[in-house]
Amino acid sequence: MAASFSLSLYPWIYLAKYTEGGVWLEEYREQDHFSPAEEAELSSEARADLMERRNNFEGLPHVNYTTQYGMGCFEGLKAFPQRDGSLKLFRPDRNGERMHRSMAGLEMPAFPVAMFLEAAIGTVRRNQEIGFAPAYDAAWETDNFLTAQSVYLRPFSYSEPGIGLNLSANPWVVIPTTPVGSYFDPDSSNKAITTDKVRATRGGTGWIKCDANYVIPTLVKHAVQRQGYMEAIFLDAKTGTFVEEGSSSNIFFLLKNGTLVTPALEDTILPGITRETLLQLARDRGVKTEERRISIDEVMSEATEAFVSGTAAGLSYLESITHKGNERELNNGEMGELTRDLLLELKGIQYGSVEDRHGWMVPV
Ligand SMILES: *Cc1c(COP(=O)(O)O)cnc(C)c1O
Repeated sequence: MAASFSLSLYPWIYLAKYTEGGVWLEEYREQDHFSPAEEAELSSEARADLMERRNNFEGLPHVNYTTQYGMGCFEGLKAFPQRDGSLKLFRPDRNGERMHRSMAGLEMPAFPVAMFLEAAIGTVRRNQEIGFAPAYDAAWETDNFLTAQSVYLRPFSYSEPGIGLNLSANPWVVIPTTPVGSYFDPDSSNKAITTDKVRATRGGTGWIKCDANYVIPTLVKHAVQRQGYMEAIFLDAKTGTFVEEGSSSNIFFLLKNGTLVTPALEDTILPGITRETLLQLARDRGVKTEERRISIDEVMSEATEAFVSGTAAGLSYLESITHKGNERELNNGEMGELTRDLLLELKGIQYGSVEDRHGWMVPV
């Protein structure tokens, strides 16, 4: 039976299975598909049915340590269409390194970074070869790539069958891909509000991208969205006074003294690749940056701009922050100058209209 919701996946997926001899057995799999033109003509039911089959990865068990206990981790990265018709991945080596850390953190055999890189490239390339990739559109340049499309890769680990509380000794790594359009919704609110719920604790798993970290943020994000906010701001678990992250994004504040501050990487903060990129781009512009603890009180009195960062949106500015019933508006509710400069430079590098002076882009 076709589901009424439908996740759009591209046909080619990558799978690797860790086998007894310590070898990763690799496979590229071409899931059911028609031509892109034929797929565009499908009725919504036929399309949902096709996507349901495409989202069924034959041979993967349903009852295992990942589905039962959250013993899994994942990555998110993008390939960007370029003017010359090619695609380029943004810093995939950094995602490969983080995936390695996440798997090691879950005490499962960690996927080699070189294999991750090749698999990411190989999956996007196979899909592109059969026409499944967004085409570059020069019209994107006129809106600063805010409506531009890209390919989203979602590598994830998946455990062998089992029902006891066990570590995964023989995981799979799977890489599906999906087209993504603009994340930018002009009608949505850009307000944020602090929450007293806890995302990550000292000694926990906040520093890796593992499945278990997303339960509380998902509940909280939807709760604040029902109240008209875009994003929830999580504070430290111990004192409830220091800012940590958004629900699945890092957070930055430009202070009145001109310093750009983001919380330092402690074990409750996820080391975002967009985060490290924006710190570099800010320093390149001569902006003073600090990675340190920052209290919500300092933010409420000193911040002039604020934004959250992550692969999905790049960066999203915050028009106001509400804490304990007080709403502080930032930059009259508009996107600030530094926020805009960083957003446009990041998108420009990714879509090839700004020079890639750090060598971040990797051809597919
Ligand atoms: C993925 C993620 C981020 C952003 O990381 P990027 O590498 O920039 O996409 C930030 N915080 C959390 C909790 C995340 O899961």
